[in-house]
Order: sequence, then structure tokens, then C-alpha cells
Amino acid sequence: MEEVRLFDTATRSVKPLSASDGEALKFYACGPTVYGPAHIGNFRTFVVQDLLVRVWEAAGGKVDHVRNLTDVDDKTIRGAREAKLPLGDFTSKWAEIFIKDGKSLGLTPPMKQPKATDFVPQQIDLVERLVKAGHAYEADGSVYFRVKSFPGYGKLSRLDEREVKEGASGRADADEYAREQAADFVLWKAHKEEDGEVFWESPWGKGRPGWHLECSAMAMQIFGETIDLHGGGSDLIFPHHENEIAQSEAATGKPFVKHWFHVAHLLVENRKMSKSLGNLHTLKDVIRHGWDAFDLRLVLLSGHYRQPLNFSWDTMTAARHGRERLGRVRSKLEEAAKGKKAGAEEWGSFRGAWDALREDLETPKALAALYTAASTVEHKRKAGMSDEDAAKELAGLDHILEVFGVSALFEKQTEAPAEMKQLAKDREIARNAKDWTESDRLRDELALKGWEVRDGAGGWRLVRKPGTP
Ligand SMILES: [Zn+2]
Repeated sequence: MEEVRLFDTATRSVKPLSASDGEALKFYACGPTVYGPAHIGNFRTFVVQDLLVRVWEAAGGKVDHVRNLTDVDDKTIRGAREAKLPLGDFTSKWAEIFIKDGKSLGLTPPMKQPKATDFVPQQIDLVERLVKAGHAYEADGSVYFRVKSFPGYGKLSRLDEREVKEGASGRADADEYAREQAADFVLWKAHKEEDGEVFWESPWGKGRPGWHLECSAMAMQIFGETIDLHGGGSDLIFPHHENEIAQSEAATGKPFVKHWFHVAHLLVENRKMSKSLGNLHTLKDVIRHGWDAFDLRLVLLSGHYRQPLNFSWDTMTAARHGRERLGRVRSKLEEAAKGKKAGAEEWGSFRGAWDALREDLETPKALAALYTAASTVEHKRKAGMSDEDAAKELAGLDHILEVFGVSALFEKQTEAPAEMKQLAKDREIARNAKDWTESDRLRDELALKGWEVRDGAGGWRLVRKPGTP
């Protein structure tokens, strides 16, 4: 296969990515905590991870991608209590919305999406191993990891210069803490009144797992003791990933992760996203503003993943203009190819964009190369191009669009039949009358017949659902 290079957070260097024993790449990604809608900043990480999967496959590799769902922690328990729902009902609702949003953004479904609550026995088992080995201790029904017992603690986040505290004064009970020090962190949490019905029986009494523990137990249960690639947002480096390393390596004595992959955060109009600023956009908000999810995908890939990226509505406009231009080039090429086809492995003039992706996912370079190549090809076509050459360039363009995960945008759209248009019109009337039951029924009827109705700034349009003949 072709080489793919990627920055590794642990060694601070760009190095070739490799799968153990030439098998499928074991890629574990920390998934969302399902207590509310994921915002577009969360999705930046998942879109970049999806790009990596696509690049690895286009380079000739196989990948086993696992992305968990955190369905028990401080936030989900609080959310379920406030919503007056059992934890499982509350988290399944948000998990479903997350998966649906991901689909709209063109995320390839992972091989597995394990839920933390399905792995509680494995988590208890891991805590017991750590207690037996002297790396963990019980206090008031909770179990803590003894940070001083693991000399490698802090390597990933370069914590070595900071203070390491031990014992009751330096313990962190919350799932998330931002202390600039290593504290003994909680592996197993004793049941508290506010946890209500959420508890499991354990050797230390009723309780529940800590957040950091969940990922270690799931990753090792699914992949074994060492995984090839572990990813997440850069805010997870400390303490989450630092703690995952400590728990896993202290228990097994083996390296937990060979390559660390972190994606920087997203800013909105140059400001940190927050509820109080009202800029915590979700995919729903973006679509409500009349944009296509794929325009957002292109924006989320427009900056290099290791740099913070600034989102603004202007960046959406630029992305849309760019892909509309690509669409025009593509349809002219399609005409010029006169039905001739080239192999799916073809890159044509788009090889430069592909090479930029293989080198640490250099998306800004790759997009620039893609647009430049599109202009060059368009000039050549105007000057006269053979059917074969047009077919090659078309295959190359489709290939790179597939790697970027946006090819669905360019699928040939067939005109919707009159019957479908009538259903969509009826739905609009129902919507205007705020008859949501009827409008949902009409939407579902269209879906059954293979058409998706999309609402945008200029009204509705009908799109043939992928996979329908
Ligand atoms: Zn995790």
C-alpha cells in the first residue's frame, strides 16, 4: 500500500502510520458523550477522523474503526435526572441524533460503536487488576488510581514538570478536571444520592465506572492490549488520554497505543464556542440557515487539523462556491467523456491533492491542489480533449471527491416525477399550516418512494436517496 504519514502526539513528530502485522489498522476514537446535541466543533474531530479512514483505505489499507458512545458519566446522569427519564432512554435518544447527524455529514459508520454501559463487568475487572497490583486503592467505596505508582504518568501531555499530588488532598472525583497537576483519579465511583437508579454492584459496593476507565476497558476488550491508533479532540490529551494510558499500561505492562492522533478545536467567529455566547452551533442550526451538511464538511476540512479552525458564515459561502465550481467542471468532463469510463484507481491531474492528504492530512494544500487541477483540466478540455483523457480526469476527480467524502454532492440528480413534486408541495402546505403530523407523514411517504425532501433557504428540493435505483 501507499505510505500515509500522520503526526503522533506522543513523539511530537510526523511518522508513517502502520497497522500491526499488516492487518487492519486498529483505530479507537473517543466518541461523544450522549447528553445533548453534538456541536459543529465536536464534529470537526469526527469528520477529520473519517477523512483519515478514507485516506487509509484509498492508500490500500484496511481499518477497524471503533468509536464509543459515553452513556454514563456525570453529565449524562445529570441530564437524565433533569429530563426525568431513565438514563438509558435519555442517552439512546441523543445517540440516535448523533448517528443521524454523522450520516448527514458523510461519516462512514464505524465497525463498532460500543456503549460504556455494555462493558461494566470488563471495567470492574480492570479495576480489580489495578487494585491487586497496587496501582489503585479503595476509599469510602470509591477506587482511585495511584498516580505515583506509574512512573510514565504525564508523558503524553508533558506533565513531567508539574506537581504530582497523592492521597486525599490530591484526589479528583469529577470525570473532568483541568488541574495543572496530576491527581489520583477516580476509577470507580461510590453510589451517591444524586445517581438515583444508576448503579452496578461491585466488590466495593454499589457504584459506577469513572469516564476514563470506560475507554480503556472497551478498547482492550475489542482490540487487545495494544492498539495502533487512538484519536480524539486535543482537549482529551489531559487528563483523559493520560489516564487511559496509566490504567491500561499499569494493568498489562504493554504499550497501550502506538500512535496518538488529536484534532484541534473549532472557533466560531474567532471566539470560543459557548452556551453563553450563543455560538454553540449544531448541524441542525447550519441546515436551518439554508446550508447543506456537505458544505459544512468542506469547511471543517478547510484548515489543517492540528491548528484551531475558525468557522464563520463567510467560510460556508466560500465552500459552497468552491464545490459549485467543481460541479460545473465535473459535468463538462462527464459530457466530454461520452460515457467512457476509466479505472477507479485513476488520479489523473488530481494526484497532487491525494499526495497532500497522505502527508499528515494536509487538507488546505490538498484543496488548493484540487481547485488548481480543476482549472487546468477545464482549460485543457476547452482546448480539445479526447474521450479517453476526459474519462481519466473524471475518474481522478471522482476519486479525490470520494476521499474527501463529498462525492454524494455530485451524484447525478434526476428530475423528480410529478407525483413526488405534488407530495412535496402538499407537505409544504401542511408545514405552513403547522400540521406537523401530516407534514411528517408526507416526508415519510416520499422517503419510502426513494426521495428525500430537503428544506433550504430557497424552499424545498427533492433529492434521490442514495442507494435507490
Ligand atoms: Zn476515551
